[in-house]
Amino acid sequence: MEMKLSRRRTDDISVVDLGGRITSGDALAVFREAIRDEVAKGNNKILINLQEVSYIDSSGLGELVLALGTVTQIICDKCGATLFRDDDGRWERCAQCNSTGRKTWGQLKLANAGRQVRDLLHFTKLNTVFDVHTSEADAIASFAK
Ligand SMILES: [Zn+2]
Repeated sequence: MEMKLSRRRTDDISVVDLGGRITSGDALAVFREAIRDEVAKGNNKILINLQEVSYIDSSGLGELVLALGTVTQIICDKCGATLFRDDDGRWERCAQCNSTGRKTWGQLKLANAGRQVRDLLHFTKLNTVFDVHTSEADAIASFAK
């Protein structure tokens, strides 16, 4: 089965429902575009519902990691500009306002991962990188206000 993707809003949370096989190919670009669109709209609470996912490969997992990086990017806590690290890995001052304060832009969580997805998350130790919840209700309740 091809990847399926649909989006909905629950309170102030954007839920992305994924289904089918999350593997390399055009479908991943669709997912990437969906995340970018949510971020562009300022939706900083994103829940990826994996309930209908039958299979995910390393490319699909890589795309989830990329989405996490996009949503949890580090921004200036004064003006909101995206911040970057210098060559030594230290955070640079804000190029816009010269502030040194920073914060994480948004939150991204996973819910309803099936057996194969859970196994792959454990095997790759990405279960420690992602905020993984067993149910959508748990995930929604865990978003910081
Ligand atoms: Zn700034």
